[in-house]
Amino acid sequence: IKRVGVLTSGGDSPGMNAAIRAVVRACAYYNVECVGIYRGYQGMIEGDFKEMGPRDVKNIINKGGTILKSARSADFRTAEGRKKAYDNLVAAGIDSFVVIGGDGSFTGAEIFNEEYGFPVIGIPGTIDNDIFGTSHTLGYDTALNTVIDAIDKIRDTANSHNRLFFVEVMGRDAGHIALNAGIGAGAEEILIPEEDFGLERLVESLKRSKDSGKTSSIVVVSEGDKIGKNVFELKDYIEENMPEYDVRVSVLGHMQRGGSPSCFDRVLASRLGVKAVETLLEGKSNFMVGLYQDKVTLTPLEQAIKGQSEIDMELVKVSDIVSS
Ligand code: ATP
Repeated sequence: IKRVGVLTSGGDSPGMNAAIRAVVRACAYYNVECVGIYRGYQGMIEGDFKEMGPRDVKNIINKGGTILKSARSADFRTAEGRKKAYDNLVAAGIDSFVVIGGDGSFTGAEIFNEEYGFPVIGIPGTIDNDIFGTSHTLGYDTALNTVIDAIDKIRDTANSHNRLFFVEVMGRDAGHIALNAGIGAGAEEILIPEEDFGLERLVESLKRSKDSGKTSSIVVVSEGDKIGKNVFELKDYIEENMPEYDVRVSVLGHMQRGGSPSCFDRVLASRLGVKAVETLLEGKSNFMVGLYQDKVTLTPLEQAIKGQSEIDMELVKVSDIVSS
């Protein structure tokens, strides 16, 4: 391994820049060259590369987004696209790469490795925390903090008007953000895709909550939750069945993907970036670097892609108890 490529792919997340910085500086530390690949796999196909040294990544550890830009590349899903990418990498002398992204990006890396025997390592970067083999993905902790900040503000207005708020948060098919931010922000109910709460139970629970003296309520709804078709339908249902409530919906949206990364995400990014380079230098390939019981670990990409990151049922119980 003499020249390592680094790219960010798929949806961006806070902490990606800190990971790029760690990869670039680890390469410098171990005396190998590093090349930034712009716009994910699309930039690989178009040969959009830039040599990177330690000074090129100054002042980015605290920045959200990704200086390398990210993209979704339909071309990389085709054999011709990947052939072009391979030819460009070889022409630029790049002999391995670290991809920071989600399971789609890992799938692309795995297929590319199968076809060309090209050494690849993945760093999990997504706010959704939906990747098997790591307790935390890059950006997840920051997103949780963004969500609780937002809900704290929503609660101020909810309290002033005796309102019921449905707050929709991201997470795709996983309820990690909803469950953890919901507990952290003191939500009355948390609706996640992993648990089928049912509309009637929701109404009962909200009634109980009102009877117990609560004057406002926050219900955190994961975007992947199936209880209603969407959060607006949920609002209609509750308004019909609980006319005493003034119901509002707040969809937090893309603000959850931005912002300066938390200290946790910066440290995680630094650890994973260094480990990714070290793993390549040890001659290993096709692994994802992740965190397990606060140690940096390796998980075969295939397992990271196929495995399910499960919800901690203890948290579900805790949320039931502390919201009563
Ligand atoms: P996010 O969690 O934000 O969705 P992701 O990495 O899962 O991140 P995707 O859009 O699924 O995001 O994948 C990123 C890119 O990886 C795709 O745009 C495509 O270029 C490549 N990719 C995904 N799946 C495949 C595949 N089956 N074959 C080849 N390339 C793929």
